[in-house]
Amino acid sequence: MDAEAALVEAQEDTDRHICCSMTTVLVRLVRSIGGDTAVAELLREAASRHEPAYLENVNNWISLDEACALLQAGVQTTGDDSFARRVGEETLRQHAGTQVSTLLRSLGSVEAVLQAIAQTAAKLSTVTEMEPIEVGPGRAVVTAVAREGFTRHPLHCDWATGLLAGSPILFGLPLARVQESECQARGGAQCLYTVTWDAELAAVAADPQQRVTALEAQLVAVSERLHSVYAVASDLVSSEDVETVLRRIVERAADAVRAPSHILAVRPDAGAELQVYSHGINNREAQALARAALTGKPAHGGSTLVVEVASSRRTYGQLIAHYPSAGEFFPQEREILDLYAKHAAAVLDMALALQESAHRHEQVSSLLSLSHALAKAGTSLEVAERLAVAVPEVVDCDRMAVWLWDEHGQCLRTTAKWGRTPEQQVGLPDPRIAPGDTPHLQRMLTDPQPHFFYRGTDDLFIGQVMTTLDVVALTVVPIVARDVFLGILTVSVAERPERLRPDSDLIERLTGVAALAAPAIQNGQLVDQLRDKASHDGLTGLLNRVGFRQRIDSVLDDVHTGERQMGLLFVDLDEFKRVNDHHGHDAGDELICQAAARLSAICRGDDEVARLGGDEFAIILTDVRRSDQVRAAERRVRAAFAAPFVVDEIELSIGASVGGGLCPDDGHTVKELVRRADAAMYEDKARGRRAPKLAALARTA
Ligand code: GH3
Ligand code: MG
Repeated sequence: MDAEAALVEAQEDTDRHICCSMTTVLVRLVRSIGGDTAVAELLREAASRHEPAYLENVNNWISLDEACALLQAGVQTTGDDSFARRVGEETLRQHAGTQVSTLLRSLGSVEAVLQAIAQTAAKLSTVTEMEPIEVGPGRAVVTAVAREGFTRHPLHCDWATGLLAGSPILFGLPLARVQESECQARGGAQCLYTVTWDAELAAVAADPQQRVTALEAQLVAVSERLHSVYAVASDLVSSEDVETVLRRIVERAADAVRAPSHILAVRPDAGAELQVYSHGINNREAQALARAALTGKPAHGGSTLVVEVASSRRTYGQLIAHYPSAGEFFPQEREILDLYAKHAAAVLDMALALQESAHRHEQVSSLLSLSHALAKAGTSLEVAERLAVAVPEVVDCDRMAVWLWDEHGQCLRTTAKWGRTPEQQVGLPDPRIAPGDTPHLQRMLTDPQPHFFYRGTDDLFIGQVMTTLDVVALTVVPIVARDVFLGILTVSVAERPERLRPDSDLIERLTGVAALAAPAIQNGQLVDQLRDKASHDGLTGLLNRVGFRQRIDSVLDDVHTGERQMGLLFVDLDEFKRVNDHHGHDAGDELICQAAARLSAICRGDDEVARLGGDEFAIILTDVRRSDQVRAAERRVRAAFAAPFVVDEIELSIGASVGGGLCPDDGHTVKELVRRADAAMYEDKARGRRAPKLAALARTA
């Protein structure tokens, strides 16, 4: 909002002195004489900052200065000195059937209206205090005094004279005569008006037959009012979001009960912050009034009409009409505002139900797309990665991580994460949590419920994680499948911690996600096992031919990007068949296992041993640069077979033939390299046959 607009808004909030029912009549009178051109001239002359549409809406208010300037301009434009008085006289005639005139009619007589002049005047102006001095059939004396801080203008007085003269019109009687014997605008202490009207005619109007006619008219007016309430309700229904509905309610409250300011203070969600919407009053004052009304305390120095906005389902809050001055409401106005507030509450029910169902729809479809995403995942790592990307679509958060339970290590490990900066990633170098690290994790193992943590938590471990991740709220959701603890999801926010307030919606979303994650992770673990089986040898647990091929392919990729070189050793046990023949197949198996363990023991870093079949092994040397390093590895293999094996308490000495190759020196492809290593191994075997390495095959241990 620019400064000018802010200023206009601020003035609108404070300068609400004269109700636009005055300007409605004024503009129409000028238009009936000189058309829209005259209206434009009138506004220019009065330097009014409002459009005709604003001035012709009885729910609006303007400042006293603007009202006087318009009256003055009206006198000039029409050339009629009694223009202000005519505006007053016409006001009630033109507004027959409106909320205020219906209310005034319901008072029953001209006397009653003038008796209630204080409240009646308040419906049109907040700057004048009017009081009845004496009221009787056909005659009343009333006074008008400018409220503190305001001065009475002669044209303002003329308008008031016209208004008083027009009061019998409410009951179908001719205009009253009004004499102003003292005028504050012209130097008097007050304005003193003597109003006289035709008492006899008024008595006739009070005649039962006349009264029935009047009551019928009143009935029509009441049903019109009801229609207008319904119209307002359907207008409210047509808006889509609750926020708009609430804004409209407070704006439309002016239709129900005329007052310069209206305030709506509600909690659309039970337990949520109080939301205050205001019209015709600045936000600070509106807040203060709303809070005072909530505690049942009367407002200082003004009159407030407070009604509950409640439906059969819920109590939302309060609707307030407010005057800066005291005692300005008719008792009947409470009923009217109440009726309106009930409609507003029903509309609010509907809007909230709509919002809720839209919310549910969104929740269900985001969970559905999560389940689709999870269905496509294979291994548990893939499941975790998909969860990390998809959960932020379901739960509003800034970071999230999936921690899977490592049964072997008895700890949680971060398997996938989303939303962390590289620094935060470095800040959490050891991504594992053991139950002893935090009492909450320990409790979660036995009671798998979401746990909510906020900045300043007493859990030191979680507090530290939150500081490193730079988050203000963190929620931990356990993933459990039929009593098997599979892991946790951590969801956190860097700002607005209320986003992770444990309300029913969030808990439903989180538990929904965890419920989908659990079977997906279990399936992932099955896939892990199957994949493991497919690539590993059942006897030794080493990579099998399939696993060897996968591993060597991935290492070769790195070799080709120039990141490193790779060596390959082929190893075949010598005369292994004889072990089977002499000691049985089981002893042969045991020896293969021991040989596998010795080969694994001589590996370095990321080197990997595979059993290619029978008594044949391969070793992938992942980080070698020269052929002499391959030779050294060959020597280590031979040395590994120097000592005899002990199988079933029998000492078995067995040798191994080894052949090696280096990529890219000895071959660029797997095929070339394998061929090279295989050939070298056979050469070694042939050499061995020529000069037997082992004297005795078996000796009893
Ligand atoms: P060489 O010195 O030429 O390598 O002769 P070798 O006796 O070691 O025979 P070779 O390597 O050609 O064949 C390996 C033998 O290992 C063949 C088979 O009888 C035996 N074998 C293959 N798989 C297994 C197994 O899983 N367990 C056992 N116990 N023996 C196996
Ligand atoms: Mg062999």
